[in-house]
Amino acid sequence: MKKVNYLLVPCLLTFIFATTLPLHSEAKQLKAAIIIDDFGGCTGGAEEFLEGKIPITAAVMPFTPHSTQHAVWAHKNGFEVMIHLPMQPIKGKRSWLGPKPITVDLSPKEVKERVYEAINDVPYAVGINNHMGSLAVANENIVRAIVEVAKEKKLFIVDSATSPDSKFPAMTKELGVPIIKRDVFLDDILSTNHVRKQMEKLARVTELKGQGLAIGHVGIKGDVCSAGVWQSMDIFKKRNIKIVPVSELLSAELNKKNFLP
Ligand SMILES: [Zn+2]
Repeated sequence: MKKVNYLLVPCLLTFIFATTLPLHSEAKQLKAAIIIDDFGGCTGGAEEFLEGKIPITAAVMPFTPHSTQHAVWAHKNGFEVMIHLPMQPIKGKRSWLGPKPITVDLSPKEVKERVYEAINDVPYAVGINNHMGSLAVANENIVRAIVEVAKEKKLFIVDSATSPDSKFPAMTKELGVPIIKRDVFLDDILSTNHVRKQMEKLARVTELKGQGLAIGHVGIKGDVCSAGVWQSMDIFKKRNIKIVPVSELLSAELNKKNFLP
């Protein structure tokens, strides 16, 4: 009998390794997402991204001349779409926010109406991230109203991290809405070299945490940002980091909360 057991053990081990190893390596796949903000109002770099092969996530500002067109274009070409919700900053020009931003003088009901309108203006959106907003994201009533709509419409939140006082983490936790925070801004300095450096940083963060999230822009920075992102693809290939739509970084949580079909 003992002999049989000796034979069985290696067989059993082989079986266990054979069944667990693929799962294990799948769990280890490093994933990075790149959200490109300001689609809709801005067109610089839009074509480079939306006709390209890098699976960026297109964050489209509502209420701008090309909002719906850019959302449809992105979706048609297989890109994930988000609503890039304009929110009041502490400093900055009102014109940077477009015609119907979320400002702190609005009532929660008015905030919700604007978010519903934004959802209509940006079809196919699966999540919301904030455009600017250092003042409004720190306002609990405003953020609660946004997150309540996100929950109702099954949209996740990406905190662009424009303020250390953002109420998005607390409100999403309270209401049970999936959230993820931006790790790296790609184009805070307008040079391709800088974008490449930031992409390196994204790769490092991803290796450290298993996943990473960067935000870049179309518009005046669009050509520089897209060039820097394209030129960095080799690094990601070499380091075996997969570029994925942002929802893939949240998929476990989205699944749990039935945000995925
Ligand atoms: Zn923006």
